[in-house]
Amino acid sequence: MPEGHTIHRLAAALDELYGGQKLHTSSPQGRFADGASRLDGQVLLGSQAHGKHLFLPFGARADVPVDDESVTWLRIHLGLYGSWTFDGDREFTAPHAIGAPRRRVGERGEHALKGGGGSALAGLSGGADDVTDRREGQEGDSSSHDGPSPNEWEPPKPRGAVRLRLLGRHGVADLTGPAACELLDAEGVAAVRRRLGPDPLRADADAEVFVAKARSRRKSIGELLMDQSVISGAGNIYRAEALFRVGISPFRAGNRVSEERLRAIWEDLRPLMEYGVATGFITTVDLDDVPDPLPPDDPEAGRWYVYHRTGRPCLRCGTPVAEREMAARRLFWCPTCQAR
Ligand SMILES: [Zn+2]
Repeated sequence: MPEGHTIHRLAAALDELYGGQKLHTSSPQGRFADGASRLDGQVLLGSQAHGKHLFLPFGARADVPVDDESVTWLRIHLGLYGSWTFDGDREFTAPHAIGAPRRRVGERGEHALKGGGGSALAGLSGGADDVTDRREGQEGDSSSHDGPSPNEWEPPKPRGAVRLRLLGRHGVADLTGPAACELLDAEGVAAVRRRLGPDPLRADADAEVFVAKARSRRKSIGELLMDQSVISGAGNIYRAEALFRVGISPFRAGNRVSEERLRAIWEDLRPLMEYGVATGFITTVDLDDVPDPLPPDDPEAGRWYVYHRTGRPCLRCGTPVAEREMAARRLFWCPTCQAR
């Protein structure tokens, strides 16, 4: 499942690609036919993310305020299997958000890691159908978009079970396999957001809400960081890395972690996740801790302290990194640096 920074990047990209445009929406698969026909011909007014939820407001005209009661909100959660596929002409770019439109976003999330970086968005660039042989480290190469000119491009036929197609002047975005794709009014959006913990990537997030929620629970802090009702958007990589960087045992109960240390987790996560939004990469190792030279059999040491480094020496103390299953997810930690 993509971590929250990927959804924020996606929100920014959709806004750049389609914001202020009247869109044609359809549900080639049919499962979202009613919803798609309600949105068809409306204007995308912006976009926002909260944790792993994407919220897209649609209005009758581009000048409708987002908080107007006539606005219809589309909520999408990719879940484990959802993904977006993009195609368009050479004008269909989102230079500030993701460089060129990515062919495919989502699906497998952290498991899609190959060459470098840590995001499903990174490295999935525009061009031919070459998703599988792209390497994430090549994201920087994709800024030049060599698609067809606007009058040569035609929307491709939907591939697979496309729940929702967003078609604009210059390109198309196809959504397949989402866990959620539904229309809401503003009150419905507020109700979803009330169930979510604060998202460190949102300007309106309140760290004290996270501290209070974590302090009220007896579950381990390792589980609480993955609980979207406690904190939104951090996934398995950020969970492991923030706990290492702050030096907290993942097995310590939330109500036994001091407020000060919980604030330290939040304050550490926010810039790490902001870096993820800006670059598409999850990189958490401070430059001083990167081994030089990088051991050839331990490539993750250049970007992660403990994640996917089972048995490798801790970058700070040399203790072998440990791994265990926690709530059906793989957990990585240093037993020495994170003893308490
Ligand atoms: Zn250590």
